[in-house]
Amino acid sequence: MQTRNLTCIGCPMGCALTVEYTPGDKDSIKVTGYTCQRGLKYAIDEVTNPTRTVTGTIRVSNRKNLVVSVKTKDPIPKDKIDAVAEKLKEISVKAPTKIGDVALSNIENTGVDLVITKNID
Ligand code: SF4
Repeated sequence: MQTRNLTCIGCPMGCALTVEYTPGDKDSIKVTGYTCQRGLKYAIDEVTNPTRTVTGTIRVSNRKNLVVSVKTKDPIPKDKIDAVAEKLKEISVKAPTKIGDVALSNIENTGVDLVITKNID
């Protein structure tokens, strides 16, 4: 049995969560300290399949020294974050850009698209 103390990132309340579990045994997971179901889900995901939304910038190829902000449309597995961050250095888009445009589909085979988060005329 292992114990992990987490701070829920679901809202500004930042509830202190305690998770007791046996790795590989989902039925063993016991969570305390959450105020709502989002915190319970976060705690379970953290010890089974932790994910994060990745944000960053990529180059705008047809504008000198300009970058545009991007993010993964949904959270991706934590172990893919480094690969995604590296990918951001390699890719670029052309202006104009619109919030929500897909800059790259299925980034690093996560099944998640990378989307633009800033309008550029
Ligand atoms: S458990 Fe619910 S109330 Fe507490 S920080 Fe997470 S989302 Fe917010």
